[in-house]
Amino acid sequence: MQEKNDNLMETIISLCKRRGFIYQGSEIYGGLAGTYDYGPLGVTLKNNIKSLWWKKFVESREDMYGVDAAIIMNSEVWKASGHVETFADPLVECSKCGLRVRPDQVIENKEEFLEEKNKWIEDVVNKTLEEVSNWHNEIESILSKIKPLYDSISEEERKSFIEAISPTIDKVNSMLQKSEKNINLAKFILDELSKSDKYIGFITQYYLNKFVLCPNSNCKGHDSWTIPRMFNMMFRTQIGAVEDSSATVYLRPETAQGMFVNFKNVVDSFHPKLPFGLAQIGKAFRNEITPRDFIFRVREFEQMEIEYFLRPEDWEKYFEYWKNEILEWIEMVGIDMSKVYELEVEGADLAHYSKRTIDFEFDFPFGRKELYGLAYRTDFDLKNHNLSYQDEETNTKIIPHVIEPSLGVDRTVIALLLSAYKEDKSGEEVRPYLAFNPTIAPVVCAVSPLLKNKPELREYAHLVYRMLKDEFGRVMWDDNGNIGKRYRRQDEIGTPWCIVVDFDTLTDNQVTIRDRDTGKQERVKKEDIIDYIKDKMN
Ligand code: ATP
Repeated sequence: MQEKNDNLMETIISLCKRRGFIYQGSEIYGGLAGTYDYGPLGVTLKNNIKSLWWKKFVESREDMYGVDAAIIMNSEVWKASGHVETFADPLVECSKCGLRVRPDQVIENKEEFLEEKNKWIEDVVNKTLEEVSNWHNEIESILSKIKPLYDSISEEERKSFIEAISPTIDKVNSMLQKSEKNINLAKFILDELSKSDKYIGFITQYYLNKFVLCPNSNCKGHDSWTIPRMFNMMFRTQIGAVEDSSATVYLRPETAQGMFVNFKNVVDSFHPKLPFGLAQIGKAFRNEITPRDFIFRVREFEQMEIEYFLRPEDWEKYFEYWKNEILEWIEMVGIDMSKVYELEVEGADLAHYSKRTIDFEFDFPFGRKELYGLAYRTDFDLKNHNLSYQDEETNTKIIPHVIEPSLGVDRTVIALLLSAYKEDKSGEEVRPYLAFNPTIAPVVCAVSPLLKNKPELREYAHLVYRMLKDEFGRVMWDDNGNIGKRYRRQDEIGTPWCIVVDFDTLTDNQVTIRDRDTGKQERVKKEDIIDYIKDKMN
């Protein structure tokens, strides 16, 4: 079991609010569960992540085509993709207070649950097998009693005996066949039950009632859970003025379908050769039963997804390739690699469209959870949308297969904040700082005059500020409080460099540049500042 570290999470959440990264959604009206708003620093951080991703996976490649599809699509898309049928999570309800939760999110000890599950399966299946085989044995024993009697009678007597009992023999034969079938059925159930890890109704209800109290602090009910039922997570709305079922549309639960429905358009416009990909960054919406853990599980979030189309025989090679690309991305964006794990998704956890999936998990303070996913979607989607590809090389029509690297922007933000957060201790004083990689830091550098009330320093500093702002954009003016306080403030939001204009600057045209991580200061000529920063950024 992962140890919980709620303090770190609280520190990050409060820093995000205080310093303008992330606020609770609709806060002045008491908030709205599962929604968050990004403030000025948060939106810049998010944009930097997205543009780094776009640069790496779209602009720098020759085989990638970007799209930006509409969020609301024809409902037929979601029928064809299987989402109307199967995009559902199990939901249990506390019958005392009505709270609804996803069972796997309130089961804290997954190992204990698995143990209970296995015990339960064994018990049920053993009983069934025993019953069926007892029945089988009984018939066998009746037959073995009849056999000596049958052997001891004459040919004539046998004939009339068989005639007399033939209806009974037929019955026995069919019962034997049935019992054989039942044994096989019981074995099949055993197999299926052991494969599916999460959502077996009875065991889930039994387990919850035995071990899990209702998390609602005003209720804390026990033995009150209903049996799980499936709940579709797509947000539904109406389009146009007529409110009938034909006007029902959905907010997309993934960006992927926006790429599949544009597959033909892109192929017709650009004639790409296999393998090639479509890429998209955009919002996705899921009516999560239990949104939780800050921006980890929200109802409105952003995804950065690629659908990579290839010849079916190449899927294993490209699965491996995209696995490495994701790992490379994780390192390049600045997520702590030592907290990242690959999990081969199996059994019931595998999505309805996938033949193989790897989850990239991260050690969050609230447990080891999915950061990104990599799925082999086969030809599931193109086939369901009746789409194909004319392979000019072989002059045949094929349905390409698909590898999908799927990255959540918000989960990237939270993993980054957790990876970057550091504390230096010198004596009693603690210096918290965010060691963001400069490419994604919301502020590249802050500029300040040594003293706020000296016009000549302010004027010079403002020239430097303007020059840097024109070059990097993400530059902050900071003249509040003393220099030490300004450094602390910039450290806390992860600004890599603070630039100070002092009285010497007025004569030697040099500024002081102070490094966030080492605290080291260097004097740099005004005309060299841009190159100095660019050098360090590369
Ligand atoms: P989970 O098991 O955590 O619900 P999932 O397997 O349903 O996630 P996918 O359908 O694979 O997630 O979505 C791809 C990516 O989108 C995830 O790896 C994650 O980064 C992000 N994501 C999915 N659901 C959410 C959510 N509710 N809030 C924030 N990000 C999400």
